[in-house]
Amino acid sequence: MPKIKKLPLHEAQKIAAGEVVDRPANVVKELVENSLDAGATHIGIYIEQAGKKLIRIVDNGLGMSAEDAQLCFEQHATSKIASVEEIHKIATFGFRGEALPSIAAVSSVTLITKEADDEHGSKVILEHGNIISSEVAASTTGTDIAVQNLFSNVPARKKFMKSDETEWRAIANVVQAFCLDYINVHVKLFHDGKQIYNCHPTTSLVERIAQLSDSSLAQAMIPLENITNKDQSISIEGAISNHHYSRYDRNNIFIFVNKRWVKNHQLSSALIKGYSNVLQAGKYPAACLFITVDPAQVDINIHPRKEEVQFLHPIKVTTLIQETVKKTLEENLSRQLKKTVTLAAPKLEAAFHPAPSLQNLDVRFTPFDFEAFHVRQTTVQTAKIPAKVDQEIEDHSTPIVVSEVEPYRIIGQYHKTYILLEQEEGLFLVDQHAAHERILYEQFSQRFDEVTAVKLLFPHIITLQSGEAELIERHAEIFKIHGIDIERFSDNQIIIQATPVHLKNSSFDDLIRQVVSWIQEYASLDKQLFFTTIHEKLRAQMACKAAVKAGDELSQEKMEQLLRDLTKTANRFTCPHGRPTGWLLSLHEIEKKFKRKL
Ligand code: ADP
Ligand code: MG
Repeated sequence: MPKIKKLPLHEAQKIAAGEVVDRPANVVKELVENSLDAGATHIGIYIEQAGKKLIRIVDNGLGMSAEDAQLCFEQHATSKIASVEEIHKIATFGFRGEALPSIAAVSSVTLITKEADDEHGSKVILEHGNIISSEVAASTTGTDIAVQNLFSNVPARKKFMKSDETEWRAIANVVQAFCLDYINVHVKLFHDGKQIYNCHPTTSLVERIAQLSDSSLAQAMIPLENITNKDQSISIEGAISNHHYSRYDRNNIFIFVNKRWVKNHQLSSALIKGYSNVLQAGKYPAACLFITVDPAQVDINIHPRKEEVQFLHPIKVTTLIQETVKKTLEENLSRQLKKTVTLAAPKLEAAFHPAPSLQNLDVRFTPFDFEAFHVRQTTVQTAKIPAKVDQEIEDHSTPIVVSEVEPYRIIGQYHKTYILLEQEEGLFLVDQHAAHERILYEQFSQRFDEVTAVKLLFPHIITLQSGEAELIERHAEIFKIHGIDIERFSDNQIIIQATPVHLKNSSFDDLIRQVVSWIQEYASLDKQLFFTTIHEKLRAQMACKAAVKAGDELSQEKMEQLLRDLTKTANRFTCPHGRPTGWLLSLHEIEKKFKRKL
């Protein structure tokens, strides 16, 4: 008896199917790719029970003839490639002709499709890979394919599907990626009858991001315009989030290589490294990077699901990503700095321009790295890789980080505004007001529901217009949450009876008037948003009022306390208004200016 047996075709197909589709999100990916390959400009995606029950994709692409509607389910049937040599040249997603047969082998499929020139469409129904009916059917031009009961005949696979929530998240992720990649295509996504996305065609990536999430993320995005490396062999465009935005997972990082979404650890690590001065450990940015390289320099097809990618020169790509991110963030920050100085805070102008002598130095200021100044990050040097073998070797340069406390010495206060610190990397300038503002703001946010109010010995009366006094009275609850006790005193007066400890010496008139204007300005927002906006603004304003000012002289003790507090504070990189709290003038830059170093 021979030991070798030929597997029955349907068993072989089930096994092969596992390579192409191992979860509902892969099915969605394959089917949407087919729609895009067919030139669809409108794609409807209908999901039920996280794709376990139904995945249906309706497109307005080219459609298929009656013959192709059956042929497409045969192994290696593809309209996109005829020979192996062509593989590297093709611009479409598909080429193996194995997605549809693989999907059909492990589910029940109903396909309805029609080409533009055909009078009638066709409807083909398959059960676990076998065509059980094929007939003429009414259809508009395009393709409507429904995949039901995925893996119903492969119990092992079925068992390995994750919870609905997890599988759904994977599907949403795939759809988001397509939406970002094809902003000119109208994409609708439904889950259990509920519309999740309705992304109208657009020409702006940032607008597409707004369609997919909320406007706050879109507002945080900095567009990247066609950035290339020195030899012009790689280019990057897209958008990355600014230094304010962060989240605890990498789910908002999308990287595309030659228009294909890839999941590549090296590339996302390079992106995250670009944020190393900006985001705390464990926090991640949002990004959408489109990398273009000569197709000969990259192999996207090494993975059956085509998500992985291998570069001939990985280091070139990772370096460009990291540098692009770093430079973009720096430029954005200094742009913002200038804006704040000239528009929003004329009084602080002196405080936020470096002194003229420093300005003339024309040094490149690097955002202050509190992490580095508090916790020393020692990176283990990686051996230099000779240029010639560069192409064979993967970039393994992810540094091992060893943490130890980095000492700093307070040099003193400069211009009654900045605290100067000596540190191994260079000279740090901390903006005392911005830093203190951030410290207080974070403290206020944390103690949101336990603000201790102090009864004022001499209650403070503020005269407003009667409409304003009434407005304050109506919203007295907002103030109360922040520890400010306000009552109506007369028709056009209010009285402050109690305030939080920090504020007791400050003037309230400004603060109250400011809140009146916000209440008026944001009145049209929906209730929830109105309250979060006002609370957020009030908190920032209180922090601003209570913080030390530019021009306040600080004792050694006060400076020490402030720096100690700052190192413990979240989001310490910027003040609540987005200005930086500190800058590093690196020793290297200083020595270069004095021509001690090149
Ligand atoms: P591939 O995409 O690798 O060619 P598939 O199994 O995904 O393999 O699809 C097989 C063939 O079926 C495609 O080459 C294409 O001709 C046809 N096809 C599949 N989906 C569609 C669609 N949505 N619109 C038009 N043609 C399609
Ligand atoms: Mg395909």
